[in-house]
Parts: sequence; C-alpha cells; structure tokens
Amino acid sequence: MITRDAAYWRQYRKDHPGIYMKYHAKIIDKKRIQLKAWSEKNRDKRHATAKKYYDSHKDIVNQRNKQYHEANKDSIHNQAKGYALKNKEVIKVKMAAYHKKRYATDPKYKAGLFHRATERRITVQQRTTNPKPILDFIESVKSKPSAICYYCQKRVSTNHIHFDHMIPLSKGGMHSVENLCVSCDKCNLSKHDKLIADWMTLGQQLLTL
Ligand SMILES: [Zn+2]
Repeated sequence: MITRDAAYWRQYRKDHPGIYMKYHAKIIDKKRIQLKAWSEKNRDKRHATAKKYYDSHKDIVNQRNKQYHEANKDSIHNQAKGYALKNKEVIKVKMAAYHKKRYATDPKYKAGLFHRATERRITVQQRTTNPKPILDFIESVKSKPSAICYYCQKRVSTNHIHFDHMIPLSKGGMHSVENLCVSCDKCNLSKHDKLIADWMTLGQQLLTL
C-alpha cells in the first residue's frame, strides 16, 4: 500500500506540475476571497497580535524594516511617486480637507501659517531668528472671542481679525512681535502698506481715542 504523506504529495506536485497549476488556478480566487473575509472579520484580533509581537520584538522589527527600506529604497520611492502621480486629485482633496481641519482646530497651526506666509515674502534681514513670540502672540489673541483694533479701538471678533505690521514689510519693517498689532479688516485694508503717519490724517489719532 502506498503511504500518501506530505512528502508523497510534494513529489506528486513536482511530477505533475500541469495538474497542480490547473487545480491551483481553479481555487485561487476562492481562497483569496476566503482569506480576505477572514482577515476583515478578525481585524482587531490581527492588530492585537501584531502589536503584541511588535512590543516584544521592537528592536528586531525596526532593524528588519530599516534593512528592507535600505535594500528597496528605489522601488519604494518609485511606488510612492507612481501612486502620487496616479492619484493626484484624490491626494489634493485629502490634503485640502486635512489643512482645513487643522486650520479650524489647531490655533498653533493657524499662527504658523501666517508666520510662514510672511517669511516667504520678506528679505533675510527682516526675518526673526525666534518666531516663538510671534506664534504665542497670535495664538493668545486667537484664543479669545474678540480683540480691540490697535488703530480704531473697535472691538472685533477674532474670526475677522488681521495681524498688521505697523511699519510695513515693504518699507523695511521687521517681521517681529514688536512690529505686530491686531487690526480690524477695515483699518488693515485702508492702511495697506502705508506708514501710520502717512495713513492717518493729522489729529485723527486724537479723534479716535
Ligand atoms: Zn480698526
């Protein structure tokens, strides 16, 4: 009698490659669906197992990932680039949603946007070496519901507030917290890039106080 153990079937597959491949092709889709269903059903379990393994083998896993990344740098890069090229619109929509959400929920991010946008259009000499006071100032103003316009003394909602460089950047003013003030949109738009003395008519400062 022939014993049909694993070694027998291994040999059988080797001797009949055509038959095996035919069978394999027949069931592969079924197997794939089965596996996908199982994997979706046991998502939490799989994640828990993977996390448990990672926690107890951190060094090995990180080392292995690093090695894999090093060895496959180009293909990983090309894959990411290919994905980005193919999914331009999807990425654009996703990024816009991400920025919108952060803009609405993260005051630090909002302050940073104003700071970075300013930095982009000024000379190196006008830049500050320490942006923290600027960011803190903007964040503290924005964290309150309203603020007083430095120029007209009107109270305005911080949703509509502007930050103005008192000595305009175009006139060589510094992008520093000492040169920043809170302004309503009306004053900000009308002052534009004029010096305070040129913008206000003589005596106006007294009238508004
Ligand atoms: Zn104003």
